[in-house]
Amino acid sequence: SDGSDGGDDNQIIAGTAPGFEPFEMTRDGELVGFDIDLLEAVVDETEYELAEWNEYEFDSLIPALENGNIDVIAAAMTITEERQQSIAFTEPYYSANQSVLVQSGGDFAPEALEDLEDREVGAQSGTTGETVVQEQLIDEGLISDDQYTSYDNYVYAVQELERGLLDAIVIDEPVGATFADSRDVEVAFTFETGEEYGFGVQQDASDLQTALSDGIAAVRESGQYDEITQTWFDS
Ligand code: GLN
Repeated sequence: SDGSDGGDDNQIIAGTAPGFEPFEMTRDGELVGFDIDLLEAVVDETEYELAEWNEYEFDSLIPALENGNIDVIAAAMTITEERQQSIAFTEPYYSANQSVLVQSGGDFAPEALEDLEDREVGAQSGTTGETVVQEQLIDEGLISDDQYTSYDNYVYAVQELERGLLDAIVIDEPVGATFADSRDVEVAFTFETGEEYGFGVQQDASDLQTALSDGIAAVRESGQYDEITQTWFDS
């Protein structure tokens, strides 16, 4: 009967893909990061309640949303026209560009995508970094299909770069810079893509979409957005 389960209608489940510091990662067994704090603050501004976080590989998030296993994606996901064919996004909450990571202290020092010609390149499956590799390296004939390796998670790509099994990784700049702080890799160069991250929702979830967009505006207004930024981007 209606009314008895009314509270549950406002419970939402979020999905993310840890391994993308500082946006989402596991620390001491706990899921933490900018996106985690931001979505929780944003949902607090709404009538909804965040019941649970589920973890996926990045390229499984859109299918999980489409089949209703989750209600919202919070995974530093760039708003793209291609993704908007299958899901909807809130207003943007973060701007980013791409970067190219190389091994620290090696002699390979590319300054532009053309310099990756005939190199072994990696990215994470389903990302905009992978789209750059496909469209600007493979389709342009700079590298062959075989010279590209797609990883389930950027963490594995960084491990292979450290070991010299890859020459370069294409990755969102804030995350590339964070890997460069903690691992034996460095940012060779960055290039502008003008990406904007949004929270993903189902195409027919316009109430949730509007509530979350209004919530983003509210946390910007209240100063919480700046506090969360300082927490995760303080260095
Ligand atoms: N922003 C990039 C994208 O949307 C990477 C996101 C990620 O790897 N979590 O594809």
